[in-house]
Amino acid sequence: MRLISTLKSELNKLFVFELKDGNRVEAVFYRGDTLCVSTQVGCAVKCPFCLSGKEGLVRNLTSEEIYVQYDLLKDRVPVKRIAVAGIGEPLMNYSHVVASFWKFKKEGLKVSFYTTGFPHRYLKELIRLPHNGLTVSIHSTRKDKRKLLVPHGSPLDALIKTLREEIASLSKTKKKKISLAYLLIKGINDSYEDLDDFAKLVSELGVGATLLYYNATGSFEPLSKKEYEEKFLFLRRYGIRVTLSTRFRRDPLGGCGTLITNRN
Ligand code: SF4
Repeated sequence: MRLISTLKSELNKLFVFELKDGNRVEAVFYRGDTLCVSTQVGCAVKCPFCLSGKEGLVRNLTSEEIYVQYDLLKDRVPVKRIAVAGIGEPLMNYSHVVASFWKFKKEGLKVSFYTTGFPHRYLKELIRLPHNGLTVSIHSTRKDKRKLLVPHGSPLDALIKTLREEIASLSKTKKKKISLAYLLIKGINDSYEDLDDFAKLVSELGVGATLLYYNATGSFEPLSKKEYEEKFLFLRRYGIRVTLSTRFRRDPLGGCGTLITNRN
């Protein structure tokens, strides 16, 4: 595996790696301390707002291939945290993801995860790992919209049931590290009725909400900055903890949904 190119914007650095079989995956250094790594070549979930899963899944990365993304970069950029949020659904490659997690921990790194939540048996295990943050993508609490936005992810009812069962027994400190993500897309899931349902779920579970900005990677329309702020203020009225997409995550280079499998 080797680093074949580095792309830079004002905010992010994006690194393209070529694997031994010729496939290419990406990692992003952002926020001045965090490396977002990939866990698969492609992704079977195929969320329509994300470029990473456009061609489906090619193969899983090995734990070594996940770890080496960090190892090849650690002398170039000051990595303190790992975000397992690049190309791929981590739970669909769980054994390798967990093995790489322990390697990162050995290096003294803080590790956070982003997942659509399936398979559930691994979600249960992931919740209990000593991670530094776990964000579960919901994007809608309506079955039809969830299916549209996370087409090959967990069925919604089963996911919510698993979250209810697992989160209920966690300590307050552990709950604070868990968040449900909601990517806002104009005319699809941005009505106040939709957000009301989402806020009630977040509130019931006692976790945080991550309100993600859509980076216009596909045919959907993003909200304006003003609309995005309004939705944020609406959710805040429920007394829940709400995080917005940082400017790093809104960057067209390396922001959410912008990583490409086998970039040319
Ligand atoms: S958002 Fe995540 S789960 Fe969905 S297609 Fe992209 S990499 Fe896969």
